[in-house]
Amino acid sequence: SRTSLQRSHTSHRNDDLPVHGVSETIVGVLGGGQLGRMLCQAASQLAIKVTVLDPMENCPASSLSHYHMVGSYDDSATVQEFAKRCGVLTVEIEHVDVVTLEKLEQQGVDCQPKASTIRIIQDKFLQKVHFSGHGIPLPDFMQIDDFESAKRAGELFAYPLMIKSRRLAYDGRGNAVAKSEEEISSAVNVLGGYDRALYVEKWAPFVKELAVIVARGRDNSILCYPVVETIHRENICHIVKAPANVPWKIRKLATDVAYKAVSSLEGAGIFAVELFLTGDGQILLNEVAPRPHNSGHHTIESCFTSQFEQHLRAVVGLPLGDPSMKTPAAIMYNILGEDEGEQGFLLAHQLIGRALGISGASVHWYDKPEMRKQRKMGHITIVGPSMGIVETELKSMLNEEISDGQ
Ligand code: ATP
Ligand code: MG
Ligand code: MG
Repeated sequence: SRTSLQRSHTSHRNDDLPVHGVSETIVGVLGGGQLGRMLCQAASQLAIKVTVLDPMENCPASSLSHYHMVGSYDDSATVQEFAKRCGVLTVEIEHVDVVTLEKLEQQGVDCQPKASTIRIIQDKFLQKVHFSGHGIPLPDFMQIDDFESAKRAGELFAYPLMIKSRRLAYDGRGNAVAKSEEEISSAVNVLGGYDRALYVEKWAPFVKELAVIVARGRDNSILCYPVVETIHRENICHIVKAPANVPWKIRKLATDVAYKAVSSLEGAGIFAVELFLTGDGQILLNEVAPRPHNSGHHTIESCFTSQFEQHLRAVVGLPLGDPSMKTPAAIMYNILGEDEGEQGFLLAHQLIGRALGISGASVHWYDKPEMRKQRKMGHITIVGPSMGIVETELKSMLNEEISDGQ
């Protein structure tokens, strides 16, 4: 029964009290990175217990979780053992053992979103097949197995050609661009060769990248957050502006595409839909994440219900909250690792020091044990009365960084 489940798993805390949170459901999260950490922060307000599974003893979510099981979310026996402790199973990363999730679902374990969704999304090629089959606009794509097929794709799609790994991609690490036929081989090598299961996408001539966070409740109700603009630096999300400065018609189109994409998937929770806006006003889908997402971090300060609280509400079956903005403008700046080790921490702390002096700025530091170049170490969100004002505040925060660093 649920009670004995709670007892057995709270026993390590030496208390025998039943749970008295807003929901009695224990939320199990596969992954304990910054997204898991921010889920724990939202859960604490509602007194919902979040249990995380992550191989790293000192992962960002560890200290804030109700319980942290140290182990791999890609190992079948570990995931099965973990599931016993949870009332509902969810993810903060899509690269998990989906075969085990499917098996657990058959045994009656509640996974949100559904394993079928994780299966489609964790393989980018399957994802593209799925969405194009549902009539969602996206760049042309094609599987490649060898140089011949890659060359054919180049002739068909022209250059630059975007070559992608089907699996385990994040922060652009599974992407390589070939600017001409001569560059195909080196790009493929960067990704580990044709054996790594690759596919190609036609280059999307985007003028802006947009994203929509979509929430779906257990009753299948769907709510969309305001469209945001995402600005990438070397393939990594760097700045998010909310709301996106695009015409009303584009916002409507982006929201419609995001709504339709999420409607085609199963299960409750937050979904993030990454989009391209082309010069002629088309919206193309880039990819979907079945979880809270970097493009929704601003919602913590700028929306009535943050994406993290919304995800918890959705998976435990509480009513969804209001996704609209309670402040006219917000800008989110990712603190990316500038340098390995001490020097990197010094630069980050100088930036944080300045952010702490800006009214409307909120600092989030993920407490990652090590700094690496380009790693997401934290973020800063600035809210204010207009995009112009928050942009000016961001600029002054960053310019000072340059003069301080010299
Ligand atoms: P994430 O960290 O968002 O999961 P990822 O590793 O899955 O990233 P993608 O989202 O596929 O990578 O691509 C990263 C970035 O590369 C995109 O945000 C976009 O800037 C660029 N990009 C991806 N696909 C294309 C394309 N077909 N044409 C042009 N640019 C693209
Ligand atoms: Mg991705
Ligand atoms: Mg992406």
